[in-house]
Amino acid sequence: MSGMMRDKTDRKFEVIEADHYGMCFGVKAAIAKALQIADRSPVTVLGELAHNGTVKQSMSKLGAVHGNITDLTASTKHVIITAHGAADKDRKRWAERGYRVLDTTCPLVHKAHDALRNLIVAGYTPVVIRKAGHVEVRGLTGDFPDTKVILTLDDVAALNIDSNKIGIISQTTQQLTHVVGIVKALEIRFPKADIKFTDTVCRPTKDRQVALLKLCVKVEIVIVVGGSNSNNTAQLAEKCRKLGCIAYHVQSAEEIQQSWFTGVHKVGLTAGTSTPDSDIAGVKKHLLELSRINAESNRS
Ligand code: SF4
Repeated sequence: MSGMMRDKTDRKFEVIEADHYGMCFGVKAAIAKALQIADRSPVTVLGELAHNGTVKQSMSKLGAVHGNITDLTASTKHVIITAHGAADKDRKRWAERGYRVLDTTCPLVHKAHDALRNLIVAGYTPVVIRKAGHVEVRGLTGDFPDTKVILTLDDVAALNIDSNKIGIISQTTQQLTHVVGIVKALEIRFPKADIKFTDTVCRPTKDRQVALLKLCVKVEIVIVVGGSNSNNTAQLAEKCRKLGCIAYHVQSAEEIQQSWFTGVHKVGLTAGTSTPDSDIAGVKKHLLELSRINAESNRS
């Protein structure tokens, strides 16, 4: 086989999509509701509906402004709580100041709030697995300031709990294997305690975690679509690398370089949970086009 022929053959690739990827139903529903409201009246979004420029632009085009849930002042009468949820005390404070609070909290985030509340009512010292300060965790713990927020084994080692009942939940988008590992570590750290764990990692997150494992077994490189400021997309790309794939994090088709596909036969496609379908569709179209062009070039 000549060097030129080898180069052509090497540039053929198949695009395989993950079984589950991209924006979850909770964020999609929140965006749809927010767009509907913004179309009717001026609104302030308290935080980010999704960490994605396309979503922010669509809202800004309708005149929506973005604010902060802790500010308690907004230039519009209507304020929107995002899918990540908020503490009841924050909802109340906004309402008391005369704002109309429109809630787009995901039902599965509400479920996590209920799980935490139930543990506290049952007398457990509450522990949430997630980095302190994350928007969802601020909402979860805002009404329960005594909640311990932990993320790592070091956090477990440093934890002081003066109670024999410990109730644990996690943020909805945590890696389930990590959560289970931390629960086990807590059981070892507090061997005499009655430890109750309520699994609050949401179904879409679990589906995406399994789908990523399956995808990485099948492909050599993975294109991960999502905003450059999207933490969950960056983490997804990092997970692909840990699973042995080369991963490229792109915002749009324009960032894709043909040289990435040299010698590659199977290309995986996935996306962060904040990535709109339109961004993914643009990248998918471009990949299929590249693959078609390469296949034609091989035939010629
Ligand atoms: S809880 Fe799950 S489904 Fe709901 S917004 Fe968060 S990631 Fe999406």
